[in-house]
Amino acid sequence: MEKQKYERPHILRLETGMPGKFGMRNEPAPTTHIDGMAVSELAEKYGSPLFVLSEKTIRSVYRQAYKAFSTRYPKVQFAWSYKTNYLSAVCNIFHQEGSWAEVVSGFEYDKALANGVDPKKIIFNGPAKTREELLLATNNESLIHIDHLDELYLLIEVAEHADHRPRVAIRVNMDTGIYPMWDRFGFNYENGQAWDALNKIMHSGKLDLMGLHTHIGTFIMSANAYAVAATKLAELARLLQVKFNHKLKYIDLGGGFASKNTLKGSYLPGSDTNPSFNDYAEAISSALINSHFAPGELPMLILETGRALIDEAGYIISSVIANKRMSTGRRATIIDAGVNLLFTSFWYQHSITVAQGTSQYREDTSLYGPLCMNIDCIRDSINLPLLNPGDHLVIHQTGAYNLTQWMQFIHLRPKVVMIDEMGDAHIVRENEEMESITGLEKLPGHLSSIKA
Ligand SMILES: *Cc1c(COP(=O)(O)O)cnc(C)c1O
Repeated sequence: MEKQKYERPHILRLETGMPGKFGMRNEPAPTTHIDGMAVSELAEKYGSPLFVLSEKTIRSVYRQAYKAFSTRYPKVQFAWSYKTNYLSAVCNIFHQEGSWAEVVSGFEYDKALANGVDPKKIIFNGPAKTREELLLATNNESLIHIDHLDELYLLIEVAEHADHRPRVAIRVNMDTGIYPMWDRFGFNYENGQAWDALNKIMHSGKLDLMGLHTHIGTFIMSANAYAVAATKLAELARLLQVKFNHKLKYIDLGGGFASKNTLKGSYLPGSDTNPSFNDYAEAISSALINSHFAPGELPMLILETGRALIDEAGYIISSVIANKRMSTGRRATIIDAGVNLLFTSFWYQHSITVAQGTSQYREDTSLYGPLCMNIDCIRDSINLPLLNPGDHLVIHQTGAYNLTQWMQFIHLRPKVVMIDEMGDAHIVRENEEMESITGLEKLPGHLSSIKA
């Protein structure tokens, strides 16, 4: 039998079994399997830490969202927000399900083209498009969402040399009761900037005005904010119809729906408190069908939902490296996944569960990542059982933003695996190796050797 490790005795108030503010605490069950695959086997085979994505969850969440909108509104189109997770395997699931692509940079635009998306079904957002990118998108007849007047004038210039007329919308920012207001992107509704830009587009005669766009923020906990946004865009559409007899093809309400994650500092889990797809769909659809649009003339409703479609499908498997006592007597556990892989832990209180059976005894613990950086704290305070080095923890609802905002700081990035609907795992991104980093470096001749 293996020798038991000595654990220094420590006197603490025992809280096990004590009711909290909301009644008895419920201890989350261990996550031993993900979509039928054993966590320990996944870690053994592909290494730790490891990102795991569930294809089944991606498809089922998408279908719930699509159904919520398509049962309430006649013309609905989702466009996958690339920056939320642009692994090609992920994008292609959404494209197979019928999503267009929503991109915010030239790099993302090229990635959507490389994935085989019809260029007419790429929405090009973002505040920093170059002349070359605008020309390419114009020639490809993609949908260009104009962010500011300088871009509008540049596009009018680009149109002179292009094979096609640019197909455009403007991004509108507005007061929807959500503060701070995101007014750094697009044209403001209340002060007349948006109406001014629309007039300039219509009078230029050079651009085809296809729609109106807004993206009011992210993790918006109020469905009503979208009703306000939809009503304001519908009003701009009405003014265009009255003054220019111009009918818009679409209204794009952007992204921003809350996922089922729990925000830091919340008492109740996000799955209980956050609006559902049905709540958002009801607010948006009612606002549009109750506006001036005549039956049969409703514009297409575009949604650029990001995090709410992918958070739930993502897991990180990590391993315990060590336990220690802080100077305060508090228990600390160090794991091999830190904020380098879990950027969203600055805002989310992710579900963190053990992957194997443990003792009943739990203790308030600080959970740290492997970085030599003080802010690398996954959770200040989490009630965890005693864990041994090598034990696994599963961090859940990590599908959004972590795979695009992860950073290569002192560690190489790990593999990403996707479990398909049959329960088979596929590597969808290899782990980085030394060569992935040093291969890009160049050494000037006089620095190629450290011999003097
Ligand atoms: C980031 C972004 C989205 C997706 O936002 P979520 O909050 O993840 O739903 C959609 N549209 C635009 C323009 C964005 O910048």
